[in-house]
Amino acid sequence: MSNKITRRKIIKQGGLALTALALPFPLIAFTKFNRMTDIKNFDVIIIGGSYAGLSAAMALGRSLRNVLIIDSGLPCNRQTPHSQNFITQDGEKPFEIAEKAKKQVLKYETVKFHNDIAVNAKKTTNGFIITTQKAEEFLTKKIVFATGVKDLKPEINGFAACWGISVIHCPYCHGYEVKNEKTGILANGNFAYHYAQLVHNLTKDLTIFTNGKADFTGEQSAKFKQRNIAVIEKEISLLKHQNGKLQQIVFKDHSTFDITAIYSRPAFEQHCKIPEALGCELTEQGLLQVDMFQKTTVENIFACGDNASPMRSVANAVASGNIAGAMINNMMTEEEF
Ligand SMILES: Cc1cc2nc3c(=O)[nH]c(=O)nc-3n(C[C@H](O)[C@H](O)[C@H](O)COP(=O)(O)OP(=O)(O)OC[C@H]3O[C@@H](n4cnc5c(N)ncnc54)[C@H](O)[C@@H]3O)c2cc1C
Repeated sequence: MSNKITRRKIIKQGGLALTALALPFPLIAFTKFNRMTDIKNFDVIIIGGSYAGLSAAMALGRSLRNVLIIDSGLPCNRQTPHSQNFITQDGEKPFEIAEKAKKQVLKYETVKFHNDIAVNAKKTTNGFIITTQKAEEFLTKKIVFATGVKDLKPEINGFAACWGISVIHCPYCHGYEVKNEKTGILANGNFAYHYAQLVHNLTKDLTIFTNGKADFTGEQSAKFKQRNIAVIEKEISLLKHQNGKLQQIVFKDHSTFDITAIYSRPAFEQHCKIPEALGCELTEQGLLQVDMFQKTTVENIFACGDNASPMRSVANAVASGNIAGAMINNMMTEEEF
């Protein structure tokens, strides 16, 4: 009796088949919707996918956390031809270091990478909703900001073109490459003095350009004199260069000064303003305030790399990202276990 197909069963099964055939779109849409929901819910969203962000992602990926990295592809060192002072990668191209890191990180199946700009984040009861420029929305329990900083280059003609090539910000990153060269420091006050202490160790052919009235104590000026470091106050009109390689400083009074390297550390601002909008506090220097576990002042929000550290280096970005990733995983295991 159970094998007997009744007229009612045939009508019922046929009806179901027909319903399925007649409604392919809603069914597909439903399946897609579910899949999208899964994809759009993350344990951790990392905003910024350069050295710090990728490093945090590796620790989290290896801990089986669902991670989305959102990155707009504008690391601060993108113009510099070679990156130095990061062990195992000394002298490599900055982009290649990041690409290698990305390849290694994306081997972990729970880590996804999305090329986009995060434009907004809103707190929810369970976490955050992140909105991007491409109008995507993602949910997450925790956020890591690995967004770096934006250098506010002075409006001196040629400065931007030489940035990271022959106008350099850090003696540790590029000082060795221009050792013993005719070198300038474009800075004033205590900052210029500190630079002079560091750079004098690398070259004795050193001049300070204050680009306006000098602001040094008597003691500092005496030290410069002792070390044969001239201070030039004339205002700079342009940096003459070839493909970013400095040749000459041209002053507003049309006089010139031959030179091949300049140290300068322009002012900066946070590359991404979302942390501040979420209430994360900044330090006096304009960095995101973090504790030794890279936690910001807002619960469930972490920061690592240049946006939270005065020590700007790839090694430091990688180290702080690694700590952030491990600390978030630690926090999540405590919440879940
Ligand atoms: C010219 C120059 C040369 C340097 N040379 C060296 C060197 O030789 N050796 C060395 O050790 N260090 C060097 N540094 C320092 C080093 O580059 C930085 O310390 C390092 O890049 C910091 O890494 P990060 O991941 O914190 O930030 P970054 O590398 O700056 O990356 C930040 C990332 O976040 C993304 N981002 C920002 N906001 C958003 C958003 N809203 N949505 C999505 N993505 C976003 C950016 O597009 C970028 O990809 C150099 C720096 C400069 C400026």
